[in-house]
Amino acid sequence: MSGSVPFLNLSAQRTRINSLLKPRLDRVFEHCQFVLGPEVQEFEQRLSHYCHARHAIAVSSGTDALLAVLMGEDIGPDMAVFLPSFTYTATAEVVLLLGATPIFVDVDPETFQIDIASLKKRYNTVLSLKKLVPKVIIAVDLFGQPAPWDELKEFAASRKLTLIADCAQSFGAVYKNRKLGCEALATTLSFFPSKPLGGYGDGGAILTNDDEKAALYRSLRSHGEGKERYNVQRIGLNARLDTLQAAILLTKLDVFEQELQKREEIARYYDKHLPLNITPPQRVPYSKSAWAIYCVTLESREKRDSLRQTLTDNNIGSAIYYPKPLHFQPAYKKYHDGTALPVSESKGGYVLALPIYPDLKDDERSQVIKVIKKWAKDNS
Ligand SMILES: *Cc1c(COP(=O)(O)O)cnc(C)c1O
Repeated sequence: MSGSVPFLNLSAQRTRINSLLKPRLDRVFEHCQFVLGPEVQEFEQRLSHYCHARHAIAVSSGTDALLAVLMGEDIGPDMAVFLPSFTYTATAEVVLLLGATPIFVDVDPETFQIDIASLKKRYNTVLSLKKLVPKVIIAVDLFGQPAPWDELKEFAASRKLTLIADCAQSFGAVYKNRKLGCEALATTLSFFPSKPLGGYGDGGAILTNDDEKAALYRSLRSHGEGKERYNVQRIGLNARLDTLQAAILLTKLDVFEQELQKREEIARYYDKHLPLNITPPQRVPYSKSAWAIYCVTLESREKRDSLRQTLTDNNIGSAIYYPKPLHFQPAYKKYHDGTALPVSESKGGYVLALPIYPDLKDDERSQVIKVIKKWAKDNS
């Protein structure tokens, strides 16, 4: 009997980076500047350098990053914000927290990224109803891959819509030879532990090339204060990144490129060895994935559920992203106009995410493939 293969193994990573981590944490314990200490600034500089963005503003989570960016656009009632339905709830909840209306858009059946044709249709509907003012598109870089940024930029510019990138899953990905981070007015990142660059708790960041917006986001993350404390310019948030998290993330950034390479290697191994009736993830053209999620597609829901059960029986972790599109969720149903979004509605029945992380060992990944191959033979 072979050992188990967890869906994610953060303890193996911690063991690997332990000697790098300790001195950084000790330094924070020595200076005791636990909020907006020097590590936060250092991390912001490293982040902006890494993505070639002029500014990086570290915040408390990916969700707060999105919230601050929408607040920076004065998003509120009677405004429409377009976003894919096939995403994590955070992308949509921030819109409703500000009293605006999320307009759910379908995704591409091959890449799962926001579908431009659906976006155009949804936009035209909003325009013709004359109830909401179209304001913002939040495009999600899903599963580690980039959204179709060139098409999005063209569409957003022609309709005077503001483009925001929810890059929570795709920090480190490359689009047309550029690291993601500068495709939209603002790009939001998440450092939730399971993301490609994960902290030991919640964390996030906003990237932007716009000097004024950068200053605004800095103010919004810290109670709307101006350059001086206790000088309140606007209503803001308490959405700062802890210094300890910044120290952890700095350590992980040091090994991040190596980790991305390792993820790519695992993805190629899976691609090569998957049986024919299991479709590997389709690559977005001209891009490099950060491989937050390696999502295969089965021929039917029955087959997907059967494979998942077989993996579970063999102690191999797997996950389903996303079993239910947002416009079907109880919390969002009432904000949706009933338009069918067929890809988002069906895909959750066919997809399965396999373990992919830098510390996945060679014998573990071959164990995954062995079990999948046996399942394919038994179910052909
Ligand atoms: C994880 C995630 C978020 C939210 O990030 P948090 O740091 O958990 O708040 C937002 N959008 C997407 C697509 C995500 O995957």
